[in-house]
Amino acid sequence: MDKSLLRKELRKKIAEISDKSEQSQKILARLKECDLPSGAVCVYKALSSEVDTDGIIEYFLKTREVYLPVVQGEDMMLVRIDMNTRFEKGAFNIDEPTGERLKPEDVNPSVTVTPLLGADGERNRLGKGKGYYDRYFDKVNTYRIGVAFSEQLIDEVPCDKWDKKLDMLILPDRIIK
Ligand code: ADP
Ligand code: MG
Repeated sequence: MDKSLLRKELRKKIAEISDKSEQSQKILARLKECDLPSGAVCVYKALSSEVDTDGIIEYFLKTREVYLPVVQGEDMMLVRIDMNTRFEKGAFNIDEPTGERLKPEDVNPSVTVTPLLGADGERNRLGKGKGYYDRYFDKVNTYRIGVAFSEQLIDEVPCDKWDKKLDMLILPDRIIK
């Protein structure tokens, strides 16, 4: 199946999920049990259709430098956040942190929590179709974690040559790595 049709189906499936916050809580609990590379992390700020990351951000802020992406043209830049960071709506209605924008390659976070529309058991990732994370992964050497509702695990994600696999996929009921 082609990527755009899959995205359409996944968006529909995701809109019908009624226990997003319970699933997000389970994902957070699983992530807390993981032994991850030490160092800075990059985490996205979730839209209502995505696995909620507020708990993940809070968890990492206790022990690590935390960076959030801001969209700048075709690229993502990173902004370090703390408990006092102010957020403003950016591209795609995403809450983006205000503050100094750094090049991903200058931060090189050791872990990145990645949003997705779908993923498969081989840890292939389907994004929203803009390729931001594929381009970002070209610039950094980072452990790529995907977080997904159960409904986002599909049989097979069609892959293009630029697609970057996840290292770990955290679902509410299991971890694939
Ligand atoms: P997504 O990963 O968001 O699901 P795609 O994998 O379909 O989206 O990629 C979207 C677009 O991003 C592609 O058409 C491709 O041209 C561009 N792209 C992806 N990775 C790179 C890269 N490393 N360098 C340049 N362009 C890229
Ligand atoms: Mg891709």
